[in-house]
This record gives sequence, C-alpha cells and structure tokens, in this order.
Amino acid sequence: MISRIDLRGDALPEGGALRDLLPRAEFDVEAALETVRPICEDVRHRGSAAVIEWGEKFDGVRLESIRVPAGAIAEAVERLDPAVRAALEESIRRARLVHREQRRTTHTTQVVPGGTVTEKWVPVERVGLYVPGGRSVYPSSVVMNVVPAQEAGVEGIAVASPPQKDFGGLPHPTILAACALLGVDEVYAAGGAQAVAMFAYGTAECLPVDLVTGPGNIYVAAAKRLLKGRIGIDAEAGPTEIAILADSTADPVHVAADLISQAEHDPMAAAVLVTDSEELAAATEAELKPQIAATKHVTDRIEPALAGRQSAIVLVNDLADGLKVVDAYAAEHLEIQTADAAAVADRVRNAGAVFVGPWAPVSLGDYCAGSNHVLPTGGCACHSSGLSVQSFLRGIHIVDYTRDALAEVTHHVVTLAEAEDLPAHGAALKARFGWKVPQQ
Ligand code: NAD
Repeated sequence: MISRIDLRGDALPEGGALRDLLPRAEFDVEAALETVRPICEDVRHRGSAAVIEWGEKFDGVRLESIRVPAGAIAEAVERLDPAVRAALEESIRRARLVHREQRRTTHTTQVVPGGTVTEKWVPVERVGLYVPGGRSVYPSSVVMNVVPAQEAGVEGIAVASPPQKDFGGLPHPTILAACALLGVDEVYAAGGAQAVAMFAYGTAECLPVDLVTGPGNIYVAAAKRLLKGRIGIDAEAGPTEIAILADSTADPVHVAADLISQAEHDPMAAAVLVTDSEELAAATEAELKPQIAATKHVTDRIEPALAGRQSAIVLVNDLADGLKVVDAYAAEHLEIQTADAAAVADRVRNAGAVFVGPWAPVSLGDYCAGSNHVLPTGGCACHSSGLSVQSFLRGIHIVDYTRDALAEVTHHVVTLAEAEDLPAHGAALKARFGWKVPQQ
C-alpha cells in the first residue's frame, strides 16, 4: 500500500538533489491557473451572478443570494450539538491564549539624538477568510482563521465557505455556528476560485478585501496566486501533509494512526514516515491495514493518499540523516517520535509546526492544541510560516528627525545619492540647508 524509499548506505545528497528523492504530491498550481483565470475574470465583470453560476456548476446548488442571512447564522448556533459547542469553545479559548501572545507592540528606536524610527503595527482593514467545504467541512478552520485576525485587531472580517447542497445552499451549519461563536456575522456561501475572486474584486453583495487567508484545494491556491498583488495572501496551504521522524522507540500503533489521520483529508494528502528502524517500518506497514479497515473514507481518500507518489516510508541510516530528510521535505506537520524527542525537535529547521513526542499528535494541533492549523504545504515551510496574528498586521516605519539630526547625516545621503546617480535625492536634503551640504 505505502511505498518505501531506501536512502540507507551512501551519504545523502544535499539540498535540491535530496528534495528530488523525496515523495511529494503533484500539486501543479501553475496548471490550475488556466482553470481559474476565466472564473476570476467572470466574477470581476459579472460579480455575484458569476459567483452563483460557478457555485451551481461546481457545488451543484443554485442560490438566490450568496450572503448568508443573519437568521441562519443565529439558528445554526441554537441548533448546535452541545458537545460540539463545548469543543469549539475550548478550541477558541486555547487558540486565543496562544495568538494573544503574538500581538506586536509599537517600538521606537533612537538612531541618533533627535532622530527616531518608530515601528507601528497596524491591522489590515478588511480580510476575507476562506474555510474549505468540498470533501470535508472545517469549522476548525473558522477558528484558525478568525482568532488571529481578531487578535490582530482586524475590524472587517468576512468568511466564505462553499454552499452545501444538503443544507439549502448555505455553508455547513457547523461552520455557521463557529462563525456565530466567534461573533462573525458576514458570511458568504461561496467556494473555490469564485470565492477568492469575490473577495478580491468585490461584488454588489461583498465589499473587496485587502487580504485573503485560509486553506483550500488547488483551485483556491491557484486563485490566490493569480490575484496576489491585488490582494495580500497568506502562504499557499494546499493538501495536508504529515511527516513523522521516528526511531525504534516509537509505537507503530501511534505512527500508523497518525499517518492515516492526515491521509483522511484528501486523496492528495501526503503521509511520510522517516525512520532509521527497519523494525518500526515493518511494524507500521503491518499496523496500517487493520487500522484502515476500521475507519471511514477508505477508498475515496485514505487508500489513494497512502498509495500515491506523495506518501512513503523513507529509510535512513540514522537520526542525523533523518533530520536532513525532514528539513529537505519541509513538512506542513512534523511529528518527532524518538527518544529525547524535545532535543531532536529543537534541531528541526523547516516545518510548518512540530509535534513533540507521543502525546502531541497532529490531530491535537488540528483542533485543540492552541497552535494554528493553517500551515504552509508543498515545501513552502522552508520560507513561510503558518497563519498568525502577524499575518494580519503591517509594520509601518515612522521616521522623525530634527534639523540637527538631518544636518549631521546629510553628507552621507548626498554621497550615496551620487553613487546611485540620483542627484535629485541629495538635492532634496541640500534644499533644506541653503543648497549646501552642512559642515560636519
Ligand atoms: P475547498 O473548499 O477548498 O474546495 C471546494 C471548491 O472547489 C468548490 O466549492 C468548487 O467551487 C471548487 N472546485 C471543485 N472542483 C472544481 C473544478 N473542477 N474546477 C474549478 N473549481 C472547482 O474544499 P476541498 O476540495 O475539500 O479542499 C480542502 C483542502 O484544504 C484539502 O486539500 C485539505 O487537505 C486542505 N486543508 C488544508 C489545511 C491546511 O492548513 N493546510 C487545513 C484544512 C484543510
């Protein structure tokens, strides 16, 4: 079912060559750009009518209006199963604890007497938060998008999630209920590229936003990439990935359960075990079969995800090589299931989030660890971070110099301006001092 890649023996290649040996989904966002371009153009020109028609085509339900009525949001929370409500409230509480700590404070640096630079952190004014709802519905992604935006101080928060045929074309009721619990009342029944385009261009029903965040499928990622610049985006968060770095001390029952847990998202999901233990590899393979037989979503998601080229058991010489492999892979989620897991985790450089030891499985982070689950996929963790309060802030430098402080540095500015052949830059300073460079 799951293939093996044996990297034992010779020294591992470096960088890109090592990355090429590792499993990865074919998630060709460039190719999907051609699919989403006409959708985005259509929404740009025809607004809500286009969002409704593309929703009818892809989600199989025709809407009168894409804006979810306030009554439907209130009703969803009234009808919410009390156990689900309690779990969502706990998820929100823990996420708030962590994200509140991420707030940035204004800081002033005195560069010279009379010369200061203040860095002021300002929230984005209006954001569009995408909550997936194709194969699965993700009320947890409402929490993970909304909490950092709120903690950053964003005032305009709009949520979009695909219309659900079985719920009269509204987003799933648990998604609406999560919005209600978070105090979000601007919700749209829109999915895929048409939702991202609605946020970017605005329609008669939805004002344009400055930033779009949230995970989604390849069409969501492609639309974000296409419209980036017009809107800000977070990291592209595509099909989920788990990598587990484990040694012989790991429990194969846990390892198999955790690989399956992420394969459950999507046939494109990636599950990768990196280990120096032949015994653990064999025991995990043996454990997968009965665990898969006992769960749901087997033939449509778990089996194709585990059998796909994006998933594998990678055998390495030792943990040092294992660390090189997981760093080259740069997983969205990385579990460390080894002896002295905290010390090993400390050596990891590239991962969206790291889960340390046997009691911190990725599923905990998906819902209730307090950490954010909107994380970079596809190797983007080597340059990007998961969603956080910082994602919703802009740092503005405020430069304040006195006459004396400017006079003191004018000769340097004039010299650099001339070195760049931009004499008017230097002249802008000289104009303030009778067209001369002040004496030092
Ligand atoms: P989705 O909401 O992202 O996509 C559904 C939408 O895709 C539909 O509304 C439809 O408009 C559009 N669509 C479907 N087929 C199309 C086609 N042929 N052409 C153009 N548009 C089309 O839901 P999903 O499909 O279930 O994907 C969710 C993804 O999000 C999964 O891959 C999951 O692993 C991922 N995810 C990632 C994270 C993370 O943090 N990285 C978190 C949660 C979910």
